Amino acid sequence: IMFMACTDNHNNNTITYSKTDPINKKVDSLIKIMTLKEKIGQMNQYNGFWDVTGPAPDNGDAEIKYEHLKNGLVGSMLSVRGTKAVRAVQKIAVEESRLGIPLIIGFDVIHGYKTLSPIPLAEAASWDLEAIEKSAQVAAAEASAAGINWTFAPMVDISRDPRWGRVMEGAGEDPFLGSKIAVARVKGFQGDDLSAVNTIAACAKHFAAYGFSEAGKEYNTVDIGNSTLHNTVLPPFKAAVEANVKTLMNAFNEYDGVPATGNEYLLRNILKDKWGFKGFVITDWASIKEMVIWGYAKDKRDAAKIAALAGSDMDMESHIYVSELEQLVKDGVIDEKIIDEAARRILTVKFELGLFDDPYRYCDETREKEVVNSPKHLDVVLDMAKKSIVLLKNENDLLPLKKQGQNIALIGALANEKNSPLGSWRIASKDNTGVSVLEGMQNYKDNNLIYKKGADITVGDTQFVNELTINTTDKSEFNEAIDVAKKADVVVMVLGEHGFQSGEARSRTDINLPGVQQELLEAIYKVNKNIVLVLNNGRPLSITWADKHIPAILETWQLGTQAGHAVAQVLYGDYNPSGKLPMTFPRNVGQIPIYYNHKNTGRPVRDAFNPELVFWSHYSDVENTPLYHFGHGLSYTTFKYENLALEKTVFGMDETINISVGITNTGKVTGKEVAQLYIRDLVASTTRPVKELKGFELIELQAGETKTVNFVLNKASLGFYNNQGDFIIEPGTFEIFIGGSSQTTLNTRFELE
Ligand code: BGC
Repeated sequence: IMFMACTDNHNNNTITYSKTDPINKKVDSLIKIMTLKEKIGQMNQYNGFWDVTGPAPDNGDAEIKYEHLKNGLVGSMLSVRGTKAVRAVQKIAVEESRLGIPLIIGFDVIHGYKTLSPIPLAEAASWDLEAIEKSAQVAAAEASAAGINWTFAPMVDISRDPRWGRVMEGAGEDPFLGSKIAVARVKGFQGDDLSAVNTIAACAKHFAAYGFSEAGKEYNTVDIGNSTLHNTVLPPFKAAVEANVKTLMNAFNEYDGVPATGNEYLLRNILKDKWGFKGFVITDWASIKEMVIWGYAKDKRDAAKIAALAGSDMDMESHIYVSELEQLVKDGVIDEKIIDEAARRILTVKFELGLFDDPYRYCDETREKEVVNSPKHLDVVLDMAKKSIVLLKNENDLLPLKKQGQNIALIGALANEKNSPLGSWRIASKDNTGVSVLEGMQNYKDNNLIYKKGADITVGDTQFVNELTINTTDKSEFNEAIDVAKKADVVVMVLGEHGFQSGEARSRTDINLPGVQQELLEAIYKVNKNIVLVLNNGRPLSITWADKHIPAILETWQLGTQAGHAVAQVLYGDYNPSGKLPMTFPRNVGQIPIYYNHKNTGRPVRDAFNPELVFWSHYSDVENTPLYHFGHGLSYTTFKYENLALEKTVFGMDETINISVGITNTGKVTGKEVAQLYIRDLVASTTRPVKELKGFELIELQAGETKTVNFVLNKASLGFYNNQGDFIIEPGTFEIFIGGSSQTTLNTRFELE
């Protein structure tokens, strides 16, 4: 039994637990025989140091890490690639260190391991929690066979700023939707039983407020108030903790002048004390070290002290805990209890994963062969991809395309892309393994399909290039594309961002179509107005010109391995689009941040008595509304909402409020609709948003069919956090709104007494 891996190989210290003991007892008895150094070792995580198939790098890094592994000074490794490499590092930890404590192996499995799902923002557009959970299960099943037992996902950062490249990794702008999706993803990765070999520990990140980086600039300062922290930023983290997420990761930013990595208020007061989080906190990459550069810590020793006291349990690649903590304890600056607590949290997760039973249980080449890219997994990600597509506009029923007898021109560099649709953050998968839109459309053989690129969009070919070289100034291929477009019945143009134009360190100040794509679009429009614009992008774009001129626009994000099949099935009507935007699309970048659940002001409208006056909240060069609202998304059919009913109009605090609405499919084909419920608290002790999502239901209706959808509100949905972070519920009038987007059509009011 591999359980023996955890006896003392050298000094005969005996472990006093047996296999059937509860985990806390096992952890306690292990902690007792660990030296201070070994306990600190558990708090140390290193990046994978060399690909075991080649020679070790010549920079000393590998030797140090190897020595530390042998001496029990490493608790975890990240980004170790492949079972062979995982086995190799695990073997050193288990067989060469004194206690043989296994490593926990972390990896950024963000939207799939090898079989790729859509990017997380795209998945959020499905509002389909079951599908999202399944997609995370696929990722866990593949990663867990390849040696990984911990993913640095889900990212649950709420963001209102599409300039920030990492919005592609999250669930958008809304804390309610974000919380539901956070739970679905945690459940998908961790399953019901963490010790099962096909489930892995999840990590809710980045704690906290990273999505509010000023001006959308990566790694920038954050400056938000308490109300936004408690009501908008924290709820998805709290939901993940309630769903038993095993780990959290710090954010790179500060909150209120204190870096998140050293933020006792966030980590101890809120996360560990108030929420009772039992798992462990990993720092973000080198974020302990960064506190020195920042000017928040004097030196490495100071940084270690601040981070450990604040409650950061494991150091990702700062190499600082391992060098500083021992002396800090010896000097009496840090109580050894702090170290014990961190080690205990980390060891608990290792026991829960079953690593002490068999440290190699996640290295299973046979299972890996079986599951990676299996037909079942390909089906799951295809289904997820279709559900993630949002129909933004469809005039004159240009979509769906006819299946026969049409001349179709397919134009745009992204139409023939097999790499870009995979999106950012897919470290384990091979390049160019996505199905392109061209390939997807070629399956529909009864049309005449001609492809011309028209304009190039090339970027450095990995997500880790320092300089992104975007070469999109060349217009030499415009004419070919224009010629083809002239003769076509319909032109499908696939434009947008390359997959590596969003993601970490991919902020943009301009969020329109990069390069000469806008010019190409306008040039084609001059010769053929029957254009279907298929957008590929990792963030909301501002496409005001396109919205005004192009009759049909389909938002297809970056949809992963099966992207092209999903897009083609929607284009041809074999799948009726049902996605809804999880993030507002601005008219132009100057409107950012623009989001549906904004606050009211004292001057929200033009003065009715002095309509000429300009002193109301607005811009003088663009209207206040966004281009596309949060929750917006069309279908090939139409839906009518009516009979919004409340059983009464006055409710007591503890009563459940049942609301129903009738929804009818008024079109000609079956379709799915996401019915959305919003509330507004009209008067409160702190100002409340003009609208807040509090419920949604995904339903399917046949043509002509009507269904009644029921929503339930209670105390938890009607309260909010005050500026001290306490959840309160106040009596008063509430307005509710129901419809197919945040621009709902039906509303009513009730009183809470
Ligand atoms: C990112 C994290 C990621 C980590 C490890 C950091 O740069 O911010 O989200 O998990 O790297 O790759």
